[in-house]
Amino acid sequence: MMKLSGLEIFKYLPGAQKANHTNCKECGCPTCMAFAVKLAQKQTTYDRCKYMPEELKNLCIKNIKAPQKTVKIDGLKIGGENVLYRHEKKFINKTIFAVVVDCSLPDFNEKLKRIKNFEINRVNEKIKVDLVILKNAGKHKIKNLCDETVYIEEKDFLNLSLNRIVDNNFHKTAKELVKIRTKAIENRDEKYSDPVYVYFKSNSNKYNLCARGAYYLCKYANMLVFEDFDETLFATLMTLRQNIYTDPQKPLQVESKIYEFNNPDENSLVFMTTNFALTFFAVANELANLKVPSYLIVTPAGGMSVLTAFSAEKFTSKMVAKTLKKFDLINKVKTRKIIIPGLLAPMKNELQKALPDFEIIVGTIEAYSIAEFVKNIT
Ligand code: SF4
Repeated sequence: MMKLSGLEIFKYLPGAQKANHTNCKECGCPTCMAFAVKLAQKQTTYDRCKYMPEELKNLCIKNIKAPQKTVKIDGLKIGGENVLYRHEKKFINKTIFAVVVDCSLPDFNEKLKRIKNFEINRVNEKIKVDLVILKNAGKHKIKNLCDETVYIEEKDFLNLSLNRIVDNNFHKTAKELVKIRTKAIENRDEKYSDPVYVYFKSNSNKYNLCARGAYYLCKYANMLVFEDFDETLFATLMTLRQNIYTDPQKPLQVESKIYEFNNPDENSLVFMTTNFALTFFAVANELANLKVPSYLIVTPAGGMSVLTAFSAEKFTSKMVAKTLKKFDLINKVKTRKIIIPGLLAPMKNELQKALPDFEIIVGTIEAYSIAEFVKNIT
């Protein structure tokens, strides 16, 4: 059963047959072709068109079935993907990172302790190892070593419906991963519908491991299983994972409001940025770590970074003036200085005109320079 393209769907619709109801818009789309394209991209459902022939309806019902199964281990979900490319929709379940711990080895407790202690915090997300696979667990009942990490005994893990690739050869593994995902998604081939994991045997070449892990993470491993546990390797690959597993149709954004750091009062510093999550957390982390009380005004800019918002006219002096009015900044603080991101230096004069009650100060381009900048102005 092949995935239907927009053109294939269109062939069945009244628009292609020049039949009654052609481009009637009852489905909410301006034309039958627009509906066909949306349906192919799963942005609408087949039942929105009442004039669809039975043959196409049946094809659509078959297509609705998830092309890749989802396997669950406690709260972890593995697989369940239904697109080849992230921009088509989004990837559903993050690639799981698993470590094998062999309880027959003398250092297994020390390895578990390192896994437990591993944690990175990025864009407001706490990232830990997802899964520990216990080998030769025997009498060792390891439970709840840490809330975020799931444990499974190797014998139970091997009984799961997962496709396993032992990584002995980069080209072979990469090719196999693409073949399995393509057959599952494009061809809806049941034989390839199990999620797939890549197993890395012990390897002291961390560079090689990192390069391979990064490639398989992008295309198309549902899980990466490592015999070794290396903190730097995991931190690197899991940071990459965080960037891949976002919804490309929804920019990462935070609420537009005034954020407070270190108990500010009416005389505290006032910073400004956009509601793009990466920018916000970079600036917010710096401000939180300063010993100086401050406010951060987050303007609504469609989740765009400062420069993109400026270029797309989502960060204009008019909009900034409106935001400050909405937040009633003039009555909230006595401070009459607003520090804008360094990247917005070109719009300083324009902002100054729009905000005559405040002095506009151009701040730093990078968030990590804020501490130094603050030292010089306080
Ligand atoms: Fe075409 Fe059906 Fe939409 Fe009417 S409801 S425009 S016939 S797809």
